[in-house]
Amino acid sequence: MRSVCASAPQLADLEPYDPKYLPADAFLSANENPHDVDKDVRHEIMREVKRVNLNRYPDPLANDLRDMIAEANGLDRDQVLVGNGGDELLFNLALAWGGPGRTFLNMPPTFSVYDANARLTNTAVVNVPRTADFRIDEEAVLARVVEGGIDYLIVTSPNNPTGELAGEEFICRLLDATDALVMVDEAYFEFSRLTMRPYLAQHKNLVILRTFSKAFSLAGVRMGYILGDAEVVREFAKVRQPYSVDAVSQVVARVVYANRAKFEPGIRAIIEERARVIDGLKRIPGVKPYPSDANYVLFRMENAGQIWEMLYGRGVLVRDFSRAPYLENCLRASIGSPEENDAFLRALRDAVMGKCDL
Ligand code: PMP
Repeated sequence: MRSVCASAPQLADLEPYDPKYLPADAFLSANENPHDVDKDVRHEIMREVKRVNLNRYPDPLANDLRDMIAEANGLDRDQVLVGNGGDELLFNLALAWGGPGRTFLNMPPTFSVYDANARLTNTAVVNVPRTADFRIDEEAVLARVVEGGIDYLIVTSPNNPTGELAGEEFICRLLDATDALVMVDEAYFEFSRLTMRPYLAQHKNLVILRTFSKAFSLAGVRMGYILGDAEVVREFAKVRQPYSVDAVSQVVARVVYANRAKFEPGIRAIIEERARVIDGLKRIPGVKPYPSDANYVLFRMENAGQIWEMLYGRGVLVRDFSRAPYLENCLRASIGSPEENDAFLRALRDAVMGKCDL
């Protein structure tokens, strides 16, 4: 056959996810940890990886890792599920709580994957946009859920790409106002130190998403997890790919999780650098950084698209949101090493002062 029939109709308006990862000297575009796993932990990983039986399927549910995460969070194994990155669990959420005839409430601008997953699964999307300074429009969200017909929501805290936390009191009101499943996406919670975990016992409709990609330097490994009620977790397990988390990733994550205290100084350093970067951005004329509780900073300025080009010309890769809905003239810079942050601030200052050529 020299032709192929059309793919499913819901794919027509979707673009493949493209993080625009280009070669650069300073990678400040993907909110990764600038510090790789330290030498000692790496040695331990290598030792353990050598013992993996590559010819055997992995433990499908990664129960050893689930037990470690459960214990650290005061939960049971059946209240934890791991996935191939948080991304897989976000997709599982749309499969399990979305679908034809079902509705997801989104609060843009936020992580674009949520909307894409809803579309892929033929889930209707109700948008309740954030306010001009990117706060959740709390009363509008509460009013909409009370109207009924919402099956799931995602509250991102801190929000990506804008950086601010959701209010704890708001999330509690939301959990009381609806029996829709409320996922609190805490991918960046180690940089904000605030979590909704203490509320799990009271709210069956709360599920928390976390990842090893940020604070624990494992973006390359693909490991995320959810914490929730055992019955909710079981629904996620029903739609999950049987062996989505491979044996090597399970070993790496176990070693890293057992050594998680060693990541604390690196996390503290990122939090300190964040304050320094925000301060540096405030000193550049025409640049408006937004407050951030995560490991990145969103900032707005005139001609942001051109400025992105100039930064890239200087070897600094940041994320360009300047043409994204609600984010006109916004760029997002991850907090890198002190040297990367200096290179970024220097290049941006030069671009603004007209010392950079396109
Ligand atoms: N949630 C948010 C808000 C994110 O920014 C990301 C990563 N970009 C994820 C979830 C998923 O992370 P991962 O798949 O690397 O665990």
